[in-house]
Amino acid sequence: MNLSFTGFIIASLFLTVGHLPEKYHPAGNADKTFANFENVFLDSYWKQYPTGSIYSGYGKYYDELVIPDKSSFRNNLTFSKAWIDSLGKLDFQALNDNNKISFRIIKNQLESDIWYTAVFKPQEWDASMYNISGACDYIINQPYAPLDERLRILTRYLSHADDYFKATLGNLNRPVREYIYMSIMQNQGGLEVFGTALSDSINISHLSQPEKDQLEQNIRRAVKAIKEFAAALKKIDADKNYVFRSFRIGKKLFDQKFKYDIATDLTPEQVYRKAIADKNYYHKKMYVIANSLWTKYYGAQIKPKDSLQLVQLVLDKVQLNHAKSADFYDSLSSYIHQLKRFIIAKNLFDFDTTTPPIKVRLMPVYERGFSLASAEFTPAYQKQGTTYFNVDDVTLYPPEKAESALKEYNHYSAQLLAMHEGVPGHCLQGIYNNKKSPDVLRSVFTNGAMIEGWAVYSEGMMVENGWGNGAPEMELELGVWRLRELANVLVDYDLQCLNIPKEKIVHLLSKECFQTDAQVEEKYHRATVSQVQLCSYYTGATAIQKLRDEYKAKMGNRYSLKDFHEKFLSFGSSPVKYIREMMMQ
Ligand code: ZN
Repeated sequence: MNLSFTGFIIASLFLTVGHLPEKYHPAGNADKTFANFENVFLDSYWKQYPTGSIYSGYGKYYDELVIPDKSSFRNNLTFSKAWIDSLGKLDFQALNDNNKISFRIIKNQLESDIWYTAVFKPQEWDASMYNISGACDYIINQPYAPLDERLRILTRYLSHADDYFKATLGNLNRPVREYIYMSIMQNQGGLEVFGTALSDSINISHLSQPEKDQLEQNIRRAVKAIKEFAAALKKIDADKNYVFRSFRIGKKLFDQKFKYDIATDLTPEQVYRKAIADKNYYHKKMYVIANSLWTKYYGAQIKPKDSLQLVQLVLDKVQLNHAKSADFYDSLSSYIHQLKRFIIAKNLFDFDTTTPPIKVRLMPVYERGFSLASAEFTPAYQKQGTTYFNVDDVTLYPPEKAESALKEYNHYSAQLLAMHEGVPGHCLQGIYNNKKSPDVLRSVFTNGAMIEGWAVYSEGMMVENGWGNGAPEMELELGVWRLRELANVLVDYDLQCLNIPKEKIVHLLSKECFQTDAQVEEKYHRATVSQVQLCSYYTGATAIQKLRDEYKAKMGNRYSLKDFHEKFLSFGSSPVKYIREMMMQ
């Protein structure tokens, strides 16, 4: 979007606001002004970032592929600054609680956008941000319009695909090698979007022959541009004289990114120090449990002297208790139903049982390969859809991989997985976010630390309320999950800020956190192609737990766990820091 257009929108908005009749109550007036502001802002935002519009299911601007040249980034900065200015003209103090939160979410988003573009500059070093396949997949396959219309949008979207990829290469300046690999893999993998399924769709569509020809020509040009982009990246990778940037962003950038992404008052050091203390706490706790289980699994066999080794040996036995490949789907599906019954029986939520809003299904093919189970929501603007609990088809894994996955998600761990992804974790929170949160903004600019923190909080909360009937094995596996979550912080901070070498990371994960070799490799890789995101689980859960303690103290004998949950979730996927201010005022 160009500046004059933004200026026009803002000017016309305030004109409308200025002419509101006198009869409005002043407080309501501010909220009404804000509601108008938010609508106009979001529409402008999606026009500025059409790819974001596609993923949010907004329904407009899908055919606009922004060419990521230098002027587009300058444009984004101007856009953010203009909107921060107009936000500053609103009367924050006169807004109601929910609008205060929305105001701050918008402000944080705009400031974060500026920081990303002007300071962090991933456009220069992260080659994986250049990819059109995901957006095309959405344009083709989501049910927002009839097929013919979707294909026409695709035709227009792809008309400048070659310009798009030409511009990207001009932006790269000492890119990070790890992202080059990832970009090659993702761009090549993304070619599948333009394969036979698309050809079939074009064939059965009612487009005229010239329209079909144009679309097919645009697809061919786009495919060629993607292949050339991947080839250019391979050439950079093969160049022996090329000076790459390290994947480690350093403490200064990490601290700043932490502030914008997590939106918390805690510093990364504080979270890091707490994670180390908690690691020691869980080691002691798990040793006590493992020690009590020793005879059950090893009889009179002599115990090892090393306490962590003892824990590992007991875990080795506990993890043999797992479903068969063919039964894995049914077992997870049944946990979801049991969990729903449990939260009602224990009065933990006002959960609406009249409609079955969570559907357990086999993971769609295009989502496979990342995790055994996942939560899937309808895009922000499509309120009518279903929330899915996806379970991967383990019977399709090679036997060794299946065995390893089933041990990892053994009888106890699989229940924690169902809590984290399903109930009362991601699926349930997603439903509350859609159904109860006051505005769409909470589904659009979601806070990852709140979302992941909630899922992590859920695991412990359920066990604490009697799920698992006090089985020591359940407590032990919960310990493994806790260690994994806090190790995410340690690995992220160690690698990005403290220059810790890979050997130490491997030792931490395998010896101190009981992870398998495959898990360790996967985590290390993830920590080289992300920053701060790994901190979101532990940081979010810590903040929620702390808020619960404070809220309990504040409410005294009026406190109930259900009341805390309902209130907390009613603010949608907002930063815990903002929710805390509202709940504790
Ligand atoms: Zn999660």
